[in-house]
Amino acid sequence: MNNKLLVVGTMAYDSIESPFGKTGKILGGCATYIGLAASQFKTSCTLVSVVGDDFKKSYMDLLKSKGIDLSGVELISGEKTFFWKGKYHNDLNSRTTLDTQLNVLTKFKPKVPDNFKNASIVLLGNLDPNLQGDVLSQMNNPKLVIMDTMNFWIDSYRDKLDEVISKVDVFSLNDEEARQITRTHSLVESAQKLHAMGPSYVIIKKGEHGALLFNGEKIFCAPALPLEEVFDPTGAGDSFIGGFAGYLSQCGRITFEEMKTATIMGSALASFTVQKFGTESLENITPERFNQRIQAFKSLTKFEIELT
Ligand code: AMP
Repeated sequence: MNNKLLVVGTMAYDSIESPFGKTGKILGGCATYIGLAASQFKTSCTLVSVVGDDFKKSYMDLLKSKGIDLSGVELISGEKTFFWKGKYHNDLNSRTTLDTQLNVLTKFKPKVPDNFKNASIVLLGNLDPNLQGDVLSQMNNPKLVIMDTMNFWIDSYRDKLDEVISKVDVFSLNDEEARQITRTHSLVESAQKLHAMGPSYVIIKKGEHGALLFNGEKIFCAPALPLEEVFDPTGAGDSFIGGFAGYLSQCGRITFEEMKTATIMGSALASFTVQKFGTESLENITPERFNQRIQAFKSLTKFEIELT
């Protein structure tokens, strides 16, 4: 297994409203969050994405400075970058999409760089399932394929989505999306139905209530860190899966036990993301702060019970 991680997803301008304030157009997109989270690990990560000529050069420089390869990012002149606007409600666990402007995405023909066609791990970020499938078909026999999605694609691209789901090993989605796809309230039952669609691993994210990892009969439950301040949950799911994939790419072993650790790594990265608007917090993690946070997760869940 090599340490190459191929990511396809959006690079975007986001505009966010939460009970704590609003932003203008800031850096966003699932590939951006995934890349920044994965770059915390020793992995060789490339993004396959698309931007318009309005995308700031300083954003590209930022990603490059984190060691992320951008040779698969296409720039389409005369077109605008993907734009998403969302508003979080008071509980911060639910949000409304106010605007989605696909812009360059409608012209995007993803091209996997030749030197990444043999990547051991492929992460199909939240994107049009036709594009996810296109990228997968360009790869040479990856060891692990991970996929994320969101309600926007579940609503209107269901057939193609199901086809891609049938080809992946790990499917990551939030509780609402799992219920929407499987029309099942119980998340345990929902995970079983998702397994039956193809993926042997299913991760159901529950926002501030943590995440569940399913592998057949085996279940692992990761907490979310109780934080004093949450400003903006945008990108939490992407940071989670970016950290998950980055860790597995670094460790080079694909087992349930390693996936448990990867789930905690992902949860730790998501906990940073929500503490500031946009990517700011993720951009500024130091190894010391990251280690402290992992330690906090350990002590949060460690307990001993003597059974009599
Ligand atoms: P998350 O909060 O983890 O679901 O991810 C939010 C990010 O996803 C934002 O930065 C958006 O730019 C991006 N995004 C929003 N809608 C879509 C969509 N329909 N397809 C792909 N990416 C999207």
